[in-house]
Amino acid sequence: MTKLALVRGSPNVVDGSAATGDLALEADVCIVGTGAGGAVTAAVLAEAGASVLMVEEGGYYTSNDFTMRERDTTPRLYQEGGTRTTKDTAIAVLQGKAVGGTTVVNWTTSFRTPEDVVQTWHDKHAVKGFAYPDLVPHWEAIEKRLAIAKVDVGSLNANNKKLYDGCKALGWEVDTLRRNVASCLQTGFCGLGCPVNAKRSMLVTMVPDAIDAGAKLVFRARADRYVVKGNTITSLEGTLLDAEGIGLTGKKLVVKAKRFVTSGGAINSPALLLRSGITDGPVGERTFLHPVVASGAFYEEAIHPYRGAPQSAASHHFAHRQDDVGFFLEAVPWYPSLSASAVPGFGSAHLDFMKHASHTALHIAIAIDGFHDDVPGGRVTLRSSGMPVVDYPIPAKLWSTFRFAQKRLAEAQLASGATEVHTLHDPSVRITKKEEIDALVDAAPYEPCRVPVFTAHQMGGCAMGDDASRAVVRSEDLRHHRVENLWVIDGSVFPTSLGVNPQESIYGLARLMATRLAARKA
Ligand SMILES: Cc1cc2nc3c(=O)[nH]c(=O)nc-3n(C[C@H](O)[C@H](O)[C@H](O)COP(=O)(O)OP(=O)(O)OC[C@H]3O[C@@H](n4cnc5c(N)ncnc54)[C@H](O)[C@@H]3O)c2cc1C
Ligand code: SF4
Repeated sequence: MTKLALVRGSPNVVDGSAATGDLALEADVCIVGTGAGGAVTAAVLAEAGASVLMVEEGGYYTSNDFTMRERDTTPRLYQEGGTRTTKDTAIAVLQGKAVGGTTVVNWTTSFRTPEDVVQTWHDKHAVKGFAYPDLVPHWEAIEKRLAIAKVDVGSLNANNKKLYDGCKALGWEVDTLRRNVASCLQTGFCGLGCPVNAKRSMLVTMVPDAIDAGAKLVFRARADRYVVKGNTITSLEGTLLDAEGIGLTGKKLVVKAKRFVTSGGAINSPALLLRSGITDGPVGERTFLHPVVASGAFYEEAIHPYRGAPQSAASHHFAHRQDDVGFFLEAVPWYPSLSASAVPGFGSAHLDFMKHASHTALHIAIAIDGFHDDVPGGRVTLRSSGMPVVDYPIPAKLWSTFRFAQKRLAEAQLASGATEVHTLHDPSVRITKKEEIDALVDAAPYEPCRVPVFTAHQMGGCAMGDDASRAVVRSEDLRHHRVENLWVIDGSVFPTSLGVNPQESIYGLARLMATRLAARKA
């Protein structure tokens, strides 16, 4: 395997921001996006001998750029500079933008798709093209390449340990989880890009594998639209961006290819289809977010919630709640700017929270959307600029889930010794005793923009399934139902959310489908 620096310096890697004129490129397969879905697909196809071109709007950063400072990294590595929200601004949308996609900034938690979720897709969403056992060898291969391994209880940071201990004390299911890291130095800054290349993200694994195998990459190049004639895409038109990825250079990109794979992630993949006039089926609909509510807790002892592996324990005790929406519990890192923007209050009230930052643990409940008829997810549409926006009105059933989950988070935190629990409402609900939880949380507003809700897991919008009226791509190969040379391979194809952090589900599915695509005759 070639060294990363040599891969980056390869003549196959083109910086769109430095192009002195328009770019006209050709390949057998053009892949838009280099995240979990795109990078795996590119590596599999290139290793099978196809000529592959990856098109990525983000920058090609290195570990030297990952300074562990939010002001340097957040605007560069996140969609819309980290300011993306849903249409009514009620949900903050964290999503990556870089060579390597969101895997560059994710927190390394690695779960296979739960077997019952794959079965639900088969039974209720006409996903007949594969079954759970078909994914297993692909997960095994990915786990080996990305060094995915389970964390020991002894290596949990204090933030995760408090969640773990609280769940244990209450008799709830909780376990350590698996991470895709090798020689992790526990800096805690996975969310700003790994400064030592310990995180086995797509940036340091499948993207270099693809380039090593002959694939080309053009970055700082945004795919604007496919040009479609009848049922065939004839070319991709794009725009070259400046070095910061914000301004346009005025130069254009045109790609001719036999096959086009859309791997821009949920929200951006359906948007590319919509901009291209490929509006068949429910494109953009049933976009799921695993919406999150958070609970902060003060402890006597130092927690330093910005140090150590950001996520290393999870509880799925409340994942299955029959008619109610399930959720799972995890910890999140509490970086200074992130916490300053999320904690409630102004002036001295705000300062009071920030003074406690090093003694604060931050735990979240992640709602499992898409399994109930009255929790149908959101819908991606286009702004007048052509950029996407997801309209996700939070249904009543989710608000009641948040309220229920907020109480469980408070119980777990008090059970692990918190002296005070606080919600992120403004003003915050502050809880010091178990007996106060119900009354205080019941009195708090659970309404749009009255309590912070965020998402780091976007899924759906180009659902797979064999009924073209309910799905955008086929489940046997993720090819578009009508457009004969268009595939979608990323998190947007899931017909529901997952109930676990999504990256490994995407890796496994992408590897299975790219392998089928590589075996396909022209
Ligand atoms: C802060 C954070 C923490 C997370 N932690 C975890 C975790 O611990 N475990 C886990 O499983 N998941 C985690 N996730 C989520 C996980 O990383 C994503 O679900 C996964 O990477 C999505 O893969 P994807 O291929 O669908 O899209 P992405 O990985 O988002 O890749 C899409 C790429 O396409 C590019 N792109 C989009 N549109 C265009 C266009 N028009 N032209 C050119 N390029 C385009 C984007 O810039 C991006 O680089 C986290 C996410 C965030 C934000
Ligand atoms: S915690 Fe480990 S994987 Fe995450 S950024 Fe630090 S060294 Fe890298």
